[in-house]
Amino acid sequence: MEFLQPATWAEALQMKAAHPQAVPIQGGTDVMVELNFDRYRPEYLLDLTRVGELAEWAPDDGRIRLGAGVSYTRVITELGGRLPGLAMASRTVGSPQIRNRGTVGGNLGAASPAGDSHPALLAAYAHVEAESVRGARQIPAEEFYTGVKRNALRPDELIKAVLIAPPSGPQQFCKIGTRNAMVISVAAFGLALHPDQEAVGTGIGSAAPTPRRALAAEQFLAQSLTGDGLWESRGALPDATSRHFADLVAEAASPIDDVRGTARYRVHSLSVMARRALIWAWNDFRRV
Ligand SMILES: Cc1cc2nc3c(=O)[nH]c(=O)nc-3n(C[C@H](O)[C@H](O)[C@H](O)COP(=O)(O)OP(=O)(O)OC[C@H]3O[C@@H](n4cnc5c(N)ncnc54)[C@H](O)[C@@H]3O)c2cc1C
Repeated sequence: MEFLQPATWAEALQMKAAHPQAVPIQGGTDVMVELNFDRYRPEYLLDLTRVGELAEWAPDDGRIRLGAGVSYTRVITELGGRLPGLAMASRTVGSPQIRNRGTVGGNLGAASPAGDSHPALLAAYAHVEAESVRGARQIPAEEFYTGVKRNALRPDELIKAVLIAPPSGPQQFCKIGTRNAMVISVAAFGLALHPDQEAVGTGIGSAAPTPRRALAAEQFLAQSLTGDGLWESRGALPDATSRHFADLVAEAASPIDDVRGTARYRVHSLSVMARRALIWAWNDFRRV
């Protein structure tokens, strides 16, 4: 196996262009598991850990530009206030060791339907910045996941950053697993209220071939809140609204039975999480 070790982003892009089959490695918490179990043996590994700019985040034209190599631990400690949904999701990932090494960029690269950052990114209307020697492009999160562990990257592209607008309203993230920590999601749900746009963002994890938004649920809730004047009044949320929202979230899922849980349990848990997340977020909104 050839080990490619670029020192700059430009060099990394050139190496990926020259060897499109090269497997990028950042924290290695997915890649090293695959190698250790001998699931594949790539011809080239492209180590991105020396590319300094990937490990940086900064405000960028009203959004936060989160470098693909920023660890979960740093999202939690440095960005808890600016990216609350993603920070909540990051707190549930693996163990301290995994959070120290693992990155949002690596979660996107792996594109597992169970990846915990995805529901938060979808709900926040995040964009993934992909780049190759041919140029850079921004991919809306909902177009990034194309199949089970497949994403929209072209063979010569790398993920450079994720662009996320700071929240104009409360965000929530819920995850159900078979135990409390170090666990792959059985189902997960992310919610973001966007009062500035009178809009709602959602993200479903582990309950479909790809992470996905619950679009009908988003539209129903946004329209109900507008119709009832609740964005303005911040009045109490009608019980029927939260219940129907939860039903629509559950309807958006298309889960399978597997070792972690049944499809039926996943659908049920999603409706419970959706209602809970909405009630928590709405109570936060009313308090501000
Ligand atoms: C014990 C354990 C517990 C875990 N628990 C969780 C959990 O609770 N929740 C969860 O979501 N995940 C969990 N994971 C999976 C893993 O930690 C996450 O997916 C993590 O985000 C991967 O990040 P990384 O930087 O380590 O990625 P890597 O392992 O370095 O890479 C992951 C994938 O992304 C690709 N990649 C990396 N960087 C780039 C880039 N810049 N451009 C293009 N492709 C790139 C790699 O080629 C690979 O396909 C766990 C893993 C382990 C071993």
